[in-house]
Amino acid sequence: MAGLSLQKVKKRFGETEVIGGVDLDVKDGEFVVFVGPSGCGKSTLLRMIAGLETTSDGRIEIGGRDVTGEDPAKRGIAMVFQTYALYPHMTVATNMGFPLEMAKRPKEEIDRKVAEAAKILHLEPYLQRKPRELSGGQRQRVAIGRAIVRQPGVFLFDEPLSNLDAELRVQMRIEIARLHQELGTTMIYVTHDQVEAMTLASRIVVLRAGRIEQVGAPLELYENPDNSFVAGFIGSPR
Ligand code: ADP
Ligand code: MG
Repeated sequence: MAGLSLQKVKKRFGETEVIGGVDLDVKDGEFVVFVGPSGCGKSTLLRMIAGLETTSDGRIEIGGRDVTGEDPAKRGIAMVFQTYALYPHMTVATNMGFPLEMAKRPKEEIDRKVAEAAKILHLEPYLQRKPRELSGGQRQRVAIGRAIVRQPGVFLFDEPLSNLDAELRVQMRIEIARLHQELGTTMIYVTHDQVEAMTLASRIVVLRAGRIEQVGAPLELYENPDNSFVAGFIGSPR
């Protein structure tokens, strides 16, 4: 497990600044949700934390360690995306164990960690199936399992439930809350869904054009949004 610190973090693509100086401290074990309009930089910020994008300026610390220029594989982070490309020809078990396979971990360790993840995600009956034999929610659970086996210090979720229908979304939201309770790992979660943000977050970060507009506990933002922009995302209707 690890906390996270973003210090004056900026991102430019060519001349365009898309992240304009973000400061944020996330405590070990916190569940932080990023919300904000499309194009405000949520995915870019997550990708910078994961090391999938370089940081133009500022500093990123994970578990108190400066990781700003560091390789993604060394950061102890796992990311779950909206579109979860599972390998169609591999079983659920092989898909989940794949990151460990790539890291050349011993087979006993892979089997043990896959079994543990399958237990947490209620995927035990499906381990020998192929992805096409699963429902959308089960497939997304496999994608989450693939993150769990790596035992990351921080989980990053980029709109992981957006492709699921409404009923499954509710079910998976409860699963993710339970996962956080069971593992206690720091989670950063991007969503468009106000209910997801309100129910999952210990703190919500509202982003606007690459900057933090307001940060606070869900009820704090709901009851005391700083402005109509924040209220538009989280605030109580008035
Ligand atoms: P969000 O996830 O909040 O919808 P993104 O982080 O995807 O926003 O995008 C933020 C801004 O950065 C957008 O204006 C987007 O067009 C731009 N952007 C993202 N990736 C790149 C890239 N690789 N090259 C140039 N511009 C990019
Ligand atoms: Mg995005």
